[in-house]
Amino acid sequence: MLEYQSMDTIYDLNLKQTEQMLAEYGQKSYRAKQLYSWLYRKRADSFTVMSDLPSSLTEELGRRYTLEPVKEIDRQVAKDGTVKYLFEMNDGASVEAVLMHFHFGESLCVSSQIGCNMGCTFCASGLLKKQRDLTAGEMVGEVMYVQKELDREEKRINNIVIMGTGEPFDNYENVMRFCEIINSDHGLAIGARHITISTCGIVPRINDFAAGHYQYNLAVSLHAPNDELRRKLMPVDRAYPLEELMGALKAYSVDNHRRITFEYILLHGVNDTDSHARQLADLIRGMNAYVNLIPYNQVDENGYRSADDRKALHFYDILMKNGVKATLRSKHGEDIDAACGQLRAKHERDKQTS
Ligand code: SAH
Repeated sequence: MLEYQSMDTIYDLNLKQTEQMLAEYGQKSYRAKQLYSWLYRKRADSFTVMSDLPSSLTEELGRRYTLEPVKEIDRQVAKDGTVKYLFEMNDGASVEAVLMHFHFGESLCVSSQIGCNMGCTFCASGLLKKQRDLTAGEMVGEVMYVQKELDREEKRINNIVIMGTGEPFDNYENVMRFCEIINSDHGLAIGARHITISTCGIVPRINDFAAGHYQYNLAVSLHAPNDELRRKLMPVDRAYPLEELMGALKAYSVDNHRRITFEYILLHGVNDTDSHARQLADLIRGMNAYVNLIPYNQVDENGYRSADDRKALHFYDILMKNGVKATLRSKHGEDIDAACGQLRAKHERDKQTS
């Protein structure tokens, strides 16, 4: 049997690479912007509609590239309008993306890997080990699929968070190219300050990110204020303990004049005591940062529970009184399997039992 070869997607190419690719066909560099405009502004579904490009070129491009790197195989819609998509890639692997409606607009949470190897004990993504990284074009494909759907309602995705399945800094180059493509003025032009990369704390990549002076937002999943507890929740803490992590983040924040978001899921009886709140304040005070207190989306497999609302508010108060800014995030899509990896894990289980 012939091995299945997945077709390249043109969404993989940044503008420079698009110019280089077009040069192979003897095309001048201005054609790249024309092509980008068809892809990202007019959001063409095929190459044949690209009427100001030579038809010999669009035929070639159609043979070489797909405009459909992701296909929808399932979705769940919550009462608050949050939509969770399950996408299938050309090789049959699947990932999730979540669309949330906020007062400031449409925000899409994208996945960066198929599965995840970080092993955070509370997270559903780690239930399935990493199979592979997503390419930049597959991540762009997640955005394009949802944007094309929103076009029918004349709505625009204006915020991207890379907080779906996967560790973006374990797929650094593809993720940075993805950001570049969706940020390009000639493409979707999603503002850099409206793109957030969330990492569990891979210090060497945080240093690379700092050195690159990118304008994207950085969020860091902390979830514990000391190494002893963090290590139990997040194995990555063994490789990059808090002192190292906080040192890298302080340097990044000062050199780049950027504010960092710390994510902290409040887990009942695990990391939600007054003492944890005070330790957290001690860790962060003085930094240009704030803490995003996240309610936990329950994952049946692991037994954690979300802290109750009163406790969450109390935790928030302690942080504020101790000089640390915080926000208490409300739940989105509570009535669907909105936690990273939940919908996919369910599908994989169904596959195994059917
Ligand atoms: N690997 C990256 C991005 C993916 S996870 C990271 O660790 O930041 C995105 C965020 O969702 C992280 O803060 C993660 O800890 C959190 N998260 C994972 N499972 C969750 C759950 N069941 N409920 C709420 N938040 C969860």
